[in-house]
Amino acid sequence: MSVDYRHPLRLGLLLTPGDDGPEAAVERARLGEELGYDLVSFRPGVSGLDPWTLLSWTAARTARIHLAARPGGPGINPAVVARAAASLDLLADGRAELILSAEPGLGEAIDIVRGIWTAHLRSPLSFAGEHHRLAGAERGPAPAHNLPILVTGTPDPALLRLAGTKADGWLRPPADDSSATGGWAGAEGWAGAHAAIDQAAVAAGRDPREIHRLTHIAGRFTAADDNAGRFTAADDGAESSLTGPPERWISALLPLILDQGVSTLILTTDDPATVRRFATDVAPALRAARGEIPRPERVPSLYVRRHRRDGIAYDAVPESLAGSAIEPGDAGFGRVRSTYLRGGSPGLVLRPGTPSEVAEAVRFARTQPVKLSVRSGGHGISGRSTNNGGIVIDLSRLHAIEILDKATRRVRVEPGARWRDVAAALSPHGWALSSGDYGGVGVGGLATSGGIGWLVREHGLTVDHLRAVDLVLADGTRVRADEEENAELFWGVRGAGANFGIVTSFEFEADEVSEVGFGQFVMDASDTAGFLERWGAVMEAAPRDLTSFLIIGRPRLGQPTVAQIMAVVDSRDAETIVARLQPLASVAPVLDYSIQVLPYEAIMNAPQAPHDGQGEPVTRSALAGHLTPELAGDVGRLIAGGLSYFFSIRAVGGAVADVPPDATAYAGRSANFQLVAFGANRRALDSAWDAMLPHFSGLYINFETDLRPERLHDAYPDAHLRRLRALKRRYDPDNVFRDNFNITPGPDQARSQSSR
Ligand SMILES: Cc1cc2nc3c(=O)[nH]c(=O)nc-3n(C[C@H](O)[C@H](O)[C@H](O)COP(=O)(O)OP(=O)(O)OC[C@H]3O[C@@H](n4cnc5c(N)ncnc54)[C@H](O)[C@@H]3O)c2cc1C
Repeated sequence: MSVDYRHPLRLGLLLTPGDDGPEAAVERARLGEELGYDLVSFRPGVSGLDPWTLLSWTAARTARIHLAARPGGPGINPAVVARAAASLDLLADGRAELILSAEPGLGEAIDIVRGIWTAHLRSPLSFAGEHHRLAGAERGPAPAHNLPILVTGTPDPALLRLAGTKADGWLRPPADDSSATGGWAGAEGWAGAHAAIDQAAVAAGRDPREIHRLTHIAGRFTAADDNAGRFTAADDGAESSLTGPPERWISALLPLILDQGVSTLILTTDDPATVRRFATDVAPALRAARGEIPRPERVPSLYVRRHRRDGIAYDAVPESLAGSAIEPGDAGFGRVRSTYLRGGSPGLVLRPGTPSEVAEAVRFARTQPVKLSVRSGGHGISGRSTNNGGIVIDLSRLHAIEILDKATRRVRVEPGARWRDVAAALSPHGWALSSGDYGGVGVGGLATSGGIGWLVREHGLTVDHLRAVDLVLADGTRVRADEEENAELFWGVRGAGANFGIVTSFEFEADEVSEVGFGQFVMDASDTAGFLERWGAVMEAAPRDLTSFLIIGRPRLGQPTVAQIMAVVDSRDAETIVARLQPLASVAPVLDYSIQVLPYEAIMNAPQAPHDGQGEPVTRSALAGHLTPELAGDVGRLIAGGLSYFFSIRAVGGAVADVPPDATAYAGRSANFQLVAFGANRRALDSAWDAMLPHFSGLYINFETDLRPERLHDAYPDAHLRRLRALKRRYDPDNVFRDNFNITPGPDQARSQSSR
């Protein structure tokens, strides 16, 4: 009776480095990739070269082939192996596999390896086994993908049971030519072994398809059909070997694949001619006979299934998205669960790679009775690009940046790109797009709501440079919006975009910007109110080529209150830079300063790291026309009272006010300042901030975490809100995109509903 575990056929190479040096061994691996092999592994040979090191080098010299690492010898430290394998996987972008040999304590070793990889658990890993012990080891890194652990050894009942219970595959070793079980290639040998694995898997609650079946093969191509295609002991007696013409290899191997459920054949040879011959004369016939297997890659493990959340139809995830999706039990979950500031634990992170996949993701997500979050760069201050138990559509794989037209400086940018990448891509052309002050922020969240950046007073908001967008709407349809086509939608996207769809590409017109002056001043702001008033007055009077932001931290007992002013002058001329910065230097005693002339790209250069936000961020935000004595006094008291541990103000005005207030959904055109208070105590900060509302002229939603519906009225004047609600009724009547500053479709709901 034949068995089929529905795994695609994979063909691999096991190489034994010889005396011709490490480079030659890696070259053979590269040849394998060129010829279409799926997997490569090294074993120690007479050369003494270390297989793991060779594999790391191979990772750097190849792009597609999988790399099976075999830690050498007994007595390995599983925690060390786990870190090494995960590091290789990260370097190789998810191409590593781990082969562990049968030895006492193998089951414990597997538990430890998996425990180390569970990096999103913050508790240290302790393990008290018979063979292995760990006392509070730090977890991590997590591998880039669900890195398979394959166990290898002869079909001993204990090993097969272990494979069925804990491993992702059983690799039958080269020298297993056990005649007692009907011979290496004999049906009985395989059937009995696989039945034992399956039985153990079912007893452990697993699906037998979770466990891949692999084998080594070896042999020699001959012209004559001298051995009738049988596997025999090779001359040296060390390998099970096949001798004969390709047809005989094919007829000997097909039963393994089609009847016995073996899905990976690893050819043990270092002879380039054999490697080529197998690839050209044997592999195509094997692959054709196996055929395509629908949805082969996703047999979720017991661990993954156990960590699934209620309410999500995981098995109905569209095929195009299933392969790249990440669930709570998947290895990469720790890297996608949270945002920059907010901790989260979604039930499913969909990672579409094309606009049509985004459409499929929306169509699927809207049928699920759980929260839906949309994420581009994950820097949203409100943290709504993650959730607890819901679905996240993560656009990070859509990150292309393309110059469309040099004459008009038209560029196309996908939402998952970061502003540092945009700055780097535009810099060689002498262009820039004013975005924000931090290069790690994503394009999608910022360019759908405003964009108050280092060049804002000279060049306006990011949304003011937007010329067209491509969107996926709530029903999954794709539309383009610009001043002519879907013009009202284009209006709404520029300030309230999150409510109407998912933007899959932005077309911007960049500005000509080369080097800029960048000044940083550390100042004694003990007279906080006076400091703010003076800085505000300087900025209101400043030419547009000066933009400045300030930050004030929590006061420390017995220390002066310290503020940091950062300023960009859109000029590389030293005299202009000094002339612009001089008034800023006079607003308070300077404790330290630096002035540099830099490419704009250099100030946007931010480090890239996975997001690790925890808890709920607490901020309040506002726009103000002027830093009046009353407002400055209230802010001074707020900071002195310890309610805000990080307070910042961005100068706006200038070119922002050239655009009429009703030209875009972003409405705060008259403001000269944008304020943000980060706090720890939501209730206390809300109460102090609410009392300050009379000082404010509006709200920029990108720095706000208060989702009470009143905030919509702060951000959008009534006439804007009416237009936005009409747009919502037209483009998202079922309110699919609601987990953020939600413009509800109904006329008055914004005043009565709360998203908290
Ligand atoms: C360190 C830091 C510095 C910042 N500095 C500035 C600054 O100087 N100036 C400034 O203006 N802002 C600044 N911000 C705020 C920033 O603009 C917003 O947080 C912005 O939303 C982040 O975009 P993102 O794509 O990284 O965020 P995400 O968290 O991915 O998205 C935020 C929200 O935007 C919506 N969204 C995301 N992608 C899309 C899309 N493709 N289509 C439709 N809706 C989408 C979703 O509702 C999502 O919840 C800063 C934030 C941080 C954390």
